Amino acid sequence: MPTVFEMIINGDIPSTKLYEDESCLVILDINPVEKGHALVIAKKPYPVFTQCPDEELAHLMSIAKKVDLKLRSTLGCDGTNILINNDEASGQEIAHLHIHIIPRYKNDGQNFGFVKQKYEDGEIKKLGEKLCLN
Ligand code: AMP
Repeated sequence: MPTVFEMIINGDIPSTKLYEDESCLVILDINPVEKGHALVIAKKPYPVFTQCPDEELAHLMSIAKKVDLKLRSTLGCDGTNILINNDEASGQEIAHLHIHIIPRYKNDGQNFGFVKQKYEDGEIKKLGEKLCLN
């Protein structure tokens, strides 16, 4: 079963396109957090972030940068959230790699709804050692 984004890429369902090249497509999210919320979608249907080769990922990020600049200059937003929901547990609804670029305004009242936690004494150091990458 193709994902919604494959159907959009194949032209089987409509979308509002902002940009297209050989490896990605940028469209407006149909249910925006803020108007102008855009999605940079990989044309190859990688279900999750780590499956995308580094070079391709770098290209997607470079296009996300252009989208950010365009949203700021055209909509006058004060900032953006640039995020990837990565796998079902993170809230990813469409298993096809895409980057959200969400316009943000000072005091717009939006938030992720995350509840922040606290570490016990010494816990952050131990966990840092376990997660260390070099
Ligand atoms: P995610 O939860 O990261 O997988 O995000 C999927 C996003 O795709 C959501 O923000 C949806 O609003 C958006 N979306 C779903 N269907 C469409 C569609 N047909 N056109 C544009 N955006 C869509």
